[in-house]
Amino acid sequence: MQQAEILLTGIVQGVGFRPFVKRTALENGIIGYVENREFGVKIIAQASKKIIEKFLQDILDKAPAVSTILTHSIKYLDQELSEYSSFEIAPSKKKGEISALIPPDIATCDVCAQEIFDENDRHYQYPFTNCTNCGPRFSIIQSIPYDRKNTTMRKFIMCDDCNREYTTVEDRRYHAQPNACPKCGPELRFIEIIDESPIATAKREKAFEKTISLLQTGEIVAIKGIGGYHLVCNALNKEVVENLRNLKFRPHKPFALMARDIETIEEYCEVNMDEKNMLEGQQKPIVLLSKKNDILEHVAPGVKDLGFMLPYTPLHYLLFKQFRLLVFTSGNVSEEALENNDDSAYQNLANITQYYLSYNREIFNRIDDSIVTYAGDQRILIRKARGFVPKPINIKRGIGKPQIFASGADMKSSFGLTKENIFLGSQYLGDLAYTSNTKFYKESLNYFQSIFEMKPQVVIADSHPNYFSTMIAQEFAEENELPIHKIQHHKAHIYSVMAENDLENVLGVSFDGTGYGEDGNVWGGEFFIINKTESERFAHLNYVAMVSGERAAKEPWRMALIYLYNYYPEKVESIITEKKFPQKDMIFLQLLNDSVRIQTSSMGRFFDAVASLIDVCHFNSYEGEAAMKLEALADESFSEYYHFSFDKQQSLIEVDMIIEGIVKDIQEMKSKEYISSKFHFTIAKMVFDLCIKMKNESGIDAVALSGGVFQNVVLVNMIKRVFSSSELKLFWNEKVPPNDAGIALGQVYSYLLRSR
Ligand code: ZN
Ligand code: ZN
Ligand code: FE
Repeated sequence: MQQAEILLTGIVQGVGFRPFVKRTALENGIIGYVENREFGVKIIAQASKKIIEKFLQDILDKAPAVSTILTHSIKYLDQELSEYSSFEIAPSKKKGEISALIPPDIATCDVCAQEIFDENDRHYQYPFTNCTNCGPRFSIIQSIPYDRKNTTMRKFIMCDDCNREYTTVEDRRYHAQPNACPKCGPELRFIEIIDESPIATAKREKAFEKTISLLQTGEIVAIKGIGGYHLVCNALNKEVVENLRNLKFRPHKPFALMARDIETIEEYCEVNMDEKNMLEGQQKPIVLLSKKNDILEHVAPGVKDLGFMLPYTPLHYLLFKQFRLLVFTSGNVSEEALENNDDSAYQNLANITQYYLSYNREIFNRIDDSIVTYAGDQRILIRKARGFVPKPINIKRGIGKPQIFASGADMKSSFGLTKENIFLGSQYLGDLAYTSNTKFYKESLNYFQSIFEMKPQVVIADSHPNYFSTMIAQEFAEENELPIHKIQHHKAHIYSVMAENDLENVLGVSFDGTGYGEDGNVWGGEFFIINKTESERFAHLNYVAMVSGERAAKEPWRMALIYLYNYYPEKVESIITEKKFPQKDMIFLQLLNDSVRIQTSSMGRFFDAVASLIDVCHFNSYEGEAAMKLEALADESFSEYYHFSFDKQQSLIEVDMIIEGIVKDIQEMKSKEYISSKFHFTIAKMVFDLCIKMKNESGIDAVALSGGVFQNVVLVNMIKRVFSSSELKLFWNEKVPPNDAGIALGQVYSYLLRSR
């Protein structure tokens, strides 16, 4: 007989972990106990060494889906347990219960979903049914320890039945903090704005029925979800979808959809195994899926995918008894922060709808739906939020290092905090150019610090002097008298991939729309050789003048003109016809001659230029529109390319031949699909050629690719194909988005590599 002490850290509390350990121990015939401790879970197990080893393996393999085991350790002790004859869950010690980690919100589990449709169950048709394996978590937790009294469930006193479930170890609802039933839990309300004030005009079933009939008659209803409000309407009714576009100031941006089941989704999209598993998993994000037909074209015009999710709360399940398909878009105005607070939702969404299906439990932390896409079996997180936050990322290099606050970037903001080996990234916080998002950012930063008991000792920010996130970081550093370090944007992108894979030396390919460069220009088409802390900018897209600054990013026609003017001026007149470029103006052309100007090497802007040149998109009504529409035309199995050259002396990639080739193809009436495919493959080939050069120079054969451009699945797949027969190994972001929301992790890692 041996006695072992097993320590587990991660999200192991509030997720049904102790009952799981007990069951596993009993299955293996082990005696001992399990208890919650401040760091996680401690297990004392007594059996033969072989059995204990199998027991630990079972725990690691079969842990509840909701849990995340970050680290585990085992120590054999030279004593025998006397007082245990079985395996017990030790009573909670009041002080020792605090765990630094809390679980994300979890989609309704199958058992709960069955109960709400079972007439004989006391949860029948109850929209707030949940259990230890499912339900709201992050969104309702106000403070620690994670206990009902510290959540927005506090005001609901459990009835006898609920309490019995809550206190019975063998029960599926043992310690399920949001446990509730129709007798004692939250209830539905239907709110109407009448004469500018919100009036509850129906409750419970009546509220639900009203919602159904309004949706059926083509109205927009705001429905309160887990992390905020959704705006919901009939997806097949083009008129109401159009109406929602106008009211939400989103003329072309795709809307997310919720469908009853996979079969419904398959009527409109291709769904492979990975996508199906993600759609049906416990996180239930929006999954971007290739369109099969154009029935829902008005929901996502001109792009290749539709964003689908499946019901993830009991309320959704009940709703989808009546519907098969609904638009389910975030309840906010354009790019403003998501609405969570009832009163502010009634106020700010008033221009969109006067109908609200709400309930009397407060959302404490707002958190949007996550968005996921796949390039082959590679998962790309487009938006990391509900279901994924606040899951920790393990960074070994953080052990023994100061705690860090990394402030991320601006357009897709998300900060990160570290404590030892734990990295916690915030939920997606939106574009900080909007005050509502800046407020959201600061709220979330305060929350993360208090809930996870973090006290940053070092601050890291983007080197952009005018980023709001940099200013917030500066303020934070001053207030707390902390040192602040800055890191160049595109290098931080690469370090984020290195962090995920614990790499020290890589060839970095950093492509995005915009970021502040070390020479004051706008970078974004960058190749680096990174050797631990040393980084060399090996190559970049040749600079073009970024005339008209920010507007150039919003209006691709400007970039088209700039590229043409720069590389093929004699063709400007023949390509830039009034018909194609309605806003062509002479002042702009004069500006091109101006010698004082900001230059850009942005790959995102290069995509914009090409999209406009071939008449795909001249104005971005949402970020990335032109690039997404260009991608939609490309065939990933294509293998022709435009030539380009590399000036090693100056580290420049010259693209004049690409522009020349595209102009020639336009004049020869080649199709947009042909040109787009050829352009995409050109970039894939460029990545490959440059990486080979960098490898020959440095001997490094790991390639890390990051930046918003790598949300382009066609490009990612082409790159994988080109590299498949080479010895170079590709690394991508999987735990954080490749876009700017992943930057904070890179900022942290670059500091950790430096501070050994
Ligand atoms: Zn459940
Ligand atoms: Zn109850
Ligand atoms: Fe970026």
